[in-house]
Amino acid sequence: MFFVQTGIRIQHSAVDAIGRLCFNLNVQTDAYIALGSNLGDRELNLLRAVAEIGRLPAGKVTGLSPFYETSPVGVSDQPFFFNAVLRLSTKQPPHELLHNLQHIESVIFKRKRDQHWGPRTIDLDLLLYGDQVVDSCDLTLPHPRLAERRFVLQPLCDLAPDLLHPLLGQSIRQLLAGLTSDETVRKI
Ligand code: AMP
Repeated sequence: MFFVQTGIRIQHSAVDAIGRLCFNLNVQTDAYIALGSNLGDRELNLLRAVAEIGRLPAGKVTGLSPFYETSPVGVSDQPFFFNAVLRLSTKQPPHELLHNLQHIESVIFKRKRDQHWGPRTIDLDLLLYGDQVVDSCDLTLPHPRLAERRFVLQPLCDLAPDLLHPLLGQSIRQLLAGLTSDETVRKI
């Protein structure tokens, strides 16, 4: 079960059905996806993930931020990450898109979930899906840690500085300016 902005409880299958209806009506939505890698060839991993996301049905990559090398957050004893954000214009409903991103992580990149916030060949997070607000067991939109992570806000700001966070009402530029964390985020 999950809540939409109106507070009405509905099954997420019902919401995806609405999404499929929009799909049939040809509705394109801008989704923003965060990419991260700190195992193997980090740059190649990001590039490959961009290519795989670009191959998903009913979507087109319309923007890609610069790549950044960033210090790990949470578990500090691990290699630095490469991070980026891309914009995908898509007709896929959000749960279907998340499922496809997880498929890329597990099948294409053979990612194992051994350690929470530990090292990974690729991590794909759905940051924003239009201005939709979702709170379900497997998907939260906007991404719950979007506003507190410099390694996400910086590349997102490169792509969409004036985009408004649908819950906080502040632009990405304002959220970035208000950050006090001391993570290293270096453009490569
Ligand atoms: P992680 O290990 O950081 O990749 O977290 C993945 C878990 O977070 C999965 O169980 C997802 O279902 C869940 N999740 C909830 N909201 C999101 C989101 N907006 N983007 C990606 N994963 C999400």
